[in-house]
Parts: sequence; C-alpha cells; structure tokens
Amino acid sequence: MKITQEILREFYSKHFSVAPLIKIIGLKNFERREFGFELIMDDEERFTRNISFKTPSNLVEYLSTVAPKSAYVGAIYDPPPQPSVSIIKLRWLGRELVFDLDLTDYDDVRTCGKGKEHVCPRCWRIAQDAILFVIETLEEDFGFEKIVCLFSGRRGFHVWVLDNIAKEFDEITREAIVSYIAPEDPVRTPLPLRWKKRAMKIFGKRFVNPTFQHILPYLPRLDKRVTIDINRLMRMPGSVHGATGRIVTIVKDPQEFYVDDAPHVKEILGLD
Ligand SMILES: [Zn+2]
Repeated sequence: MKITQEILREFYSKHFSVAPLIKIIGLKNFERREFGFELIMDDEERFTRNISFKTPSNLVEYLSTVAPKSAYVGAIYDPPPQPSVSIIKLRWLGRELVFDLDLTDYDDVRTCGKGKEHVCPRCWRIAQDAILFVIETLEEDFGFEKIVCLFSGRRGFHVWVLDNIAKEFDEITREAIVSYIAPEDPVRTPLPLRWKKRAMKIFGKRFVNPTFQHILPYLPRLDKRVTIDINRLMRMPGSVHGATGRIVTIVKDPQEFYVDDAPHVKEILGLD
C-alpha cells in the first residue's frame, strides 16, 4: 500500500513527535537551522529547502499543513535561512558531524541469495557490524562523547556526533575523519594497531580463522559526500521515510536493532 498524502497528513497532525529532533539538534539556534522538504503538489513531487522556523511548534504546524513525503534538517546559518536567499550567501555557523551507511553499498558481499535492494536479517548484520565499528572508532580514536545512531528509514544507519567541537569542523577536517574510518586502501595505509584489533573483534566473528584480508570487505563503506558537505541535509529524526513508511528512529543499540523495530506509519495510524 502506497504512503499517501492523507496518511502523511494524519501522521504529522496527530502523531508526530518533535522530541527526537530536539534531542539531537537542541533548542539553541533552532531558528537559524535549515530545513528541507519533498512536497507532493498536484500529484507532483517538488523539493524545497532554505526554510527555517522560529520555534519547534512552527515546524510541527508546517508539517501538519504540507504533509511532506520526506523531511530533512541541515546546518545553522546567520541570518536564518529563507526560501528567497540561497544558503551559500548566508554565514555558516555549524552543523553536527554526520555519517551515512547504507546496505546498498554492500551488494557484492551479500550472501543470502536474495539479490539486491532488500533487507533480511542476514544482510542487515553487515550494516549492524559496520555501524558499530564507526561508533567505536569515533569514541575510542577521536574521543567523541555525544554520539547518536539513527535508523535511516530504509536500509541503513545515520550517525550524528553532537560534541560542540565537531559542529565547527570544516570540510577538510570532516574529510580526514571519514577517510580514516573508511580507508579506501587499508592494505597500504599504515593503520594503528588498536584499529586493526577493533576490526578483527567486530568483523572476525564471521570467519573460523579470520585474517585481516577476510574482513576488508566488511569495513565501513560510508557515503563520504554526506560527511564532507557542511551544507548537506539529513533525514529529520522522527519523520516518515516516504518510500517505506518507516519512522527515522533513534537507535540505542544498533546490534539489537532490526528494521522492523522502527515504527511504521500505518501501524501508528492503525491501518494494518
Ligand atoms: Zn539478504
């Protein structure tokens, strides 16, 4: 069953909670935060961004009115973004350090035989292990303390680093961090011993006698552009993924989380 605009409108007007978003982006500078939406207008989809809201209530009101197919949140700007002005003309004030990991990027190591473009418990384990590696590396090698993991709504995870220092990182710093976590050529790059140990602990479980060569295909495959681009929009925590109907959900323990654990908009509305 298709996720219609009526379904989305009912969800956003009666059941949407802004709490997960506020938990992640906070209230400070809320009015300077950029938002973007995929709108359904006269049966056509249109993308709009450079939008800001004075208060979370204004955002909720907007969501219930337009019932977007997808909702996104971006960086903080001065002055607050407005549709008539491109964000590149505004002063960029910061944004969290974010990572995007999608099972689609692991199609060559899926072994369940069901092909691509699906999620099953066996394939999902690949994403679960890779995101655990990302989080442990951020904590242990970089010392970040405020890390939030989200189910992206379809086949992957997003990680948000909320530490204040990370919000100020420029693109060069972000690129260095994402390249460290997802080395393009880990055989040649000299890697710290603790990094190799962590990789063996997490990915080595797949093999009887694991070698580093065995685990290479399971290392994090991150969409680097998402991390590097400081103006990038991310799916809004608590919003509906318009294609799947699942809610973009904060995940406490990725090792215990399966995609079906994320609430579905139809369950919430009692439509199934
Ligand atoms: Zn599978």
